[in-house]
Amino acid sequence: MCCSNKSIFVCKQHISIKMNHSTGQLKVYNSLSGTKEEFKPIKDGFVGMYVCGPTLYSEPHMGNMRTFINFDTIYRYLLKLGYKVKYVRNITDAGHITNSAGISEDNIGKAAKLEQVQPLEIVYKFNTKFQELQRVYNMLPPSIEPTATGHIQEQIEIIEKIIENGFAYVKNGSVYFDVRKYSQKYNYGILSGRKIDELEQETRELNAQDEKEFFADFALWKKANPDDMQIWRSPWGDGNPGWHIECTAMSTKYLGDQFDIHGGGMDLKFPHHEDEIAQNCGSLGCNPARYWMHANMLNVNGQKMSKSFGNYFLPLEIVEGTAELFDKPYSPGVIRFLMMQSHYRSTMDMTPKSLDDAEKAYGRFMDAIDLLEKVQASKESTYDVSAMVDGFYDAMNDDFNAPMLIANLFEAVKYINSVNDGKAMITKDDLELLSREMKSFVFDVLGIAPLTGGDDSKLNGVMDLVLDLRQKARSEKDWGTSDQIRDGLAAAGIVVKDSKDGSNWN
Ligand code: AMP
Ligand code: ZN
Repeated sequence: MCCSNKSIFVCKQHISIKMNHSTGQLKVYNSLSGTKEEFKPIKDGFVGMYVCGPTLYSEPHMGNMRTFINFDTIYRYLLKLGYKVKYVRNITDAGHITNSAGISEDNIGKAAKLEQVQPLEIVYKFNTKFQELQRVYNMLPPSIEPTATGHIQEQIEIIEKIIENGFAYVKNGSVYFDVRKYSQKYNYGILSGRKIDELEQETRELNAQDEKEFFADFALWKKANPDDMQIWRSPWGDGNPGWHIECTAMSTKYLGDQFDIHGGGMDLKFPHHEDEIAQNCGSLGCNPARYWMHANMLNVNGQKMSKSFGNYFLPLEIVEGTAELFDKPYSPGVIRFLMMQSHYRSTMDMTPKSLDDAEKAYGRFMDAIDLLEKVQASKESTYDVSAMVDGFYDAMNDDFNAPMLIANLFEAVKYINSVNDGKAMITKDDLELLSREMKSFVFDVLGIAPLTGGDDSKLNGVMDLVLDLRQKARSEKDWGTSDQIRDGLAAAGIVVKDSKDGSNWN
């Protein structure tokens, strides 16, 4: 390892020694201004963060998980910086969503009819799955996961305020947001940059404009259809809430009229987040969030992964090795590691090649972390460890730049390997600092779970027993039990691989 201009780390002899490192100033890209801004929370030391959660009419796909994993990393870094964070992520279990053709749909109701069960059975089933996925992918639970159905009254009250303020009108038992009226006072398009005239062109061909007074108006409350599966009482008659109002109701209920961060996938910027801002201004008189953050899409061959395109795979399928696109299973740690190698604002593709490369890199990473416990300290250090650690913070302070963090961590991996090979030295204090911070950034911030397996003899013993029991089930052709064991282990982040020589795990 030598000091080159390309490396951000230089030999000690070339720089003055920095003994202390500060955590630096966090900068966040704000979609509202289109620039990176210094992060200053409304209340010192506290952060309120709201992220739009899943609509649970089916199992979340890997693309959905990418957005939630990215916000999990953001949450984790805010915690690492010492903030007390209230992280609210909702569950959409009601409401009509306007699809890309401008038509109002109730996907949960549709799924319930298809399976001949109640809508909340659908939601419960997929929420159980979603909670399992969060454990498998080592995501921290948010502070609260409120549901739309639990906040119908709050939604009604906000709609009443918007009507009172003159920004909505009632038509045949439905309530619509009056975009033209709103635009006289506020800037509709402030977030997405859409201009009302351009919107008009986009929607001109659509015929579902029905009772709205203006094509860009959107539903706050929809009158019930005779075949609606979920219906609530309201001052305007029986019906159900529009798509956007739940987030206005739940974010302000738990975080206040104004809070620090509002996040979601890039595809939610318009209309969902634009309409949320309109609802908040229209009821409370202010934009709810200081920083609007948008995570970019997981693509498949350059196209957004989506249920409607049919180009999706499920988060457990890759772990279990049953996803069609991949011919072997990958551990959740490797998948998360790959995700962290793309910045949250960039698109990414997940391919067998990218996962294979990530698997190798992940192995090198974990080996170096093991070495941190084993290398011998010396009287001096070859490299400036404090500057190295600064580099970890600098990367994440630059709008949560996880790929840059990983690149910087790899410099530390090279250093540790050199120490182990006797080609470099490190003092006891530096080793302690590097060890503490590397582990913290890898496990606590990037959320990459430590490898199972390893030296853990108790776990190895338990796994030997579990695999023996599974082998016994397989030899008796008890496939149900065998699959149950494999799926249960996958849910705990342990992948069982079967081969002609037997089964092993990692
Ligand atoms: P939904 O359940 O459709 O409301 O989506 C939940 C979250 O997943 C939203 O924040 C979406 O923006 C996000 N999302 C949907 N598709 C993708 C994708 N292909 N890549 C990344 N995020 C996605
Ligand atoms: Zn939302």
